[in-house]
Amino acid sequence: MTSVDKKNNLDVRATCLNCIDGRVQFPALHWIREQYHTDFVDVITAAGIDGVLASQDNIGEIIRSINISINVNKSIRIFVVGHYDCRANLVDENTHREHITKSVKRLKKHWPELEIIGLWVNSQWQVEVWCK
Ligand SMILES: [Zn+2]
Repeated sequence: MTSVDKKNNLDVRATCLNCIDGRVQFPALHWIREQYHTDFVDVITAAGIDGVLASQDNIGEIIRSINISINVNKSIRIFVVGHYDCRANLVDENTHREHITKSVKRLKKHWPELEIIGLWVNSQWQVEVWCK
């Protein structure tokens, strides 16, 4: 969080790429709002989205949604979330973390100037920063 975020008195907006799982929505949203002083969080979901971004060829619909969040809603950073006990991306924790890292790197190619942060939601439903 810097004063630059509040330039022109605009609301601070972020984009959260999260799993569809209802258990991870509030933890991620609350954490982003508090840790990054964010007024509004645009949420884009897909089942096991870390695995989708890491390994699926066609992510056009996700890219389209991110573009609207950034270009129209003026989001200034992106979060990619992976989580404990994900039933849509059935891999162990280390592989989830690899998927999150791959996701962040893939999105960086599209938006090299944007801050993109990988988050892990652990078994206590706490949010941890995994990679930037
Ligand atoms: Zn999940």
